[in-house]
Amino acid sequence: MIEHLLTSEQKRVVEDARAFVKDTPRQLILDMDAEQVRFPKDWLREAAKRNLLGVRHPKAWGGRGMDWVTASAVCEEIGSLSYELACVFGVGADLVCDAILRHGTDAQRERYVKPLLAGEIFAAECLTEPRGGSDFFGATTTAKDCGDHFLLNGQKRFIVGAEGADYFLVYARTNPDPKAPPQQSITCFIVDRGPGVETKYLYGLMGCRGGGTGRLVFRDVKVPRENVVGEVHGAYPVFNTMMIPERLGTAAMTVGAARPALDVATQYSSRRKAFGQVINRFQGVSFQVAEAATLLDASRAMVYATSRAADEVADMDHVRRLISETKKFVTESCQKVVHNAMQVVGGIGYTNVLPLERIYRDIRLASIWTGTNEVMAMIVAHEWYREHGKQKAAKLARDYARDAAEADAADEIIYE
Ligand SMILES: Cc1cc2nc3c(=O)[nH]c(=O)nc-3n(C[C@H](O)[C@H](O)[C@H](O)COP(=O)(O)OP(=O)(O)OC[C@H]3O[C@@H](n4cnc5c(N)ncnc54)[C@H](O)[C@@H]3O)c2cc1C
Repeated sequence: MIEHLLTSEQKRVVEDARAFVKDTPRQLILDMDAEQVRFPKDWLREAAKRNLLGVRHPKAWGGRGMDWVTASAVCEEIGSLSYELACVFGVGADLVCDAILRHGTDAQRERYVKPLLAGEIFAAECLTEPRGGSDFFGATTTAKDCGDHFLLNGQKRFIVGAEGADYFLVYARTNPDPKAPPQQSITCFIVDRGPGVETKYLYGLMGCRGGGTGRLVFRDVKVPRENVVGEVHGAYPVFNTMMIPERLGTAAMTVGAARPALDVATQYSSRRKAFGQVINRFQGVSFQVAEAATLLDASRAMVYATSRAADEVADMDHVRRLISETKKFVTESCQKVVHNAMQVVGGIGYTNVLPLERIYRDIRLASIWTGTNEVMAMIVAHEWYREHGKQKAAKLARDYARDAAEADAADEIIYE
């Protein structure tokens, strides 16, 4: 995060995160990548012990009562360890707990948030289905209303923590009326691991391994009515608020994940020689480092500005646009940072002698998960036109189109 913009309290939390990063054994990262560790429970327990899980959640439930800026700064630090550690760090404490804290009941907070932030239990978020992840309203997993409980049937896939989590936040179709508006058809549930819940298998993932990513199958799972999060058929607002930690968190951790790549490339290119010269003397090398440094700083600045907006701006549609822009820009920029880093070190970067190849594989996920970057562009376009139209209708801003010599040439400005 941008150090000089942080308050001393925010800096203290970031220092705690840095100490945790420093103390995390490299073997854990290697074992996760080799799938020797399937889900890093002990590491999450240690994060909880240091009060680093869900730092922006209220102290009463186990957080530190901090803000989005602090949470993003912590995410960046954790991301610098490995992308998958940042995934498991964020999914339970940031995403699932956020939904329960904002939309759940005190009984749910007591039972599912407090122990999670204390490192006693683990959670996963189940949105994506085999038939598709981008179309949230197309969910085919169903939950039949049986009075005091619901009967859950269906499948979710690519779920981080499918193996390892004790409970799942699941979105399922509850309104059997096919004509019901999509926004009033889906319900969000807390589903305990238990009878009828099966973790199918782990995928042969390109990267981001060791986080228990798998497929979940639900067969006639009895979900008590008190485990509904928010309203029945009312998952839409839950989904909407969850997209904030999902996408802002993704952006922040992606900055963190790219940072070591630039660090390694800078160090290497300051010592490696070619044609009798240290390679950073070649502009072809140092300009790639300069571009990477610029992209990283621009990404960090965007994460900071958007985190401030999430803390302070009331217009959530506007905040959603900023978050979508940030997720898209940062993930694409940081992938370029890692690309440049690998290019700068040459062939050795393509081997496991340096961590660049792992970072490269891991960070590729950034523009796919938590909503693809195409979906981000859709949201940005939609919100941008809406905001622009509102501004024009209010006639408060200057009409820039008038600042041309032939602005009155109505015959030339043809719209149809
Ligand atoms: C390692 C990993 C971990 C994940 N973890 C989780 C998790 O913990 N929980 C969870 O719920 N999900 C998780 N996901 C799922 C992830 O969020 C989805 O993969 C993602 O949202 C895209 O969904 P999809 O793969 O079904 O692609 P699809 O929705 O089928 O999209 C395929 C392509 O079509 C494009 N597309 C779709 N609709 C449009 C449109 N309207 N306009 C333009 N382009 C469009 C997409 O951008 C994409 O390029 C994870 C995925 C991976 C790979």
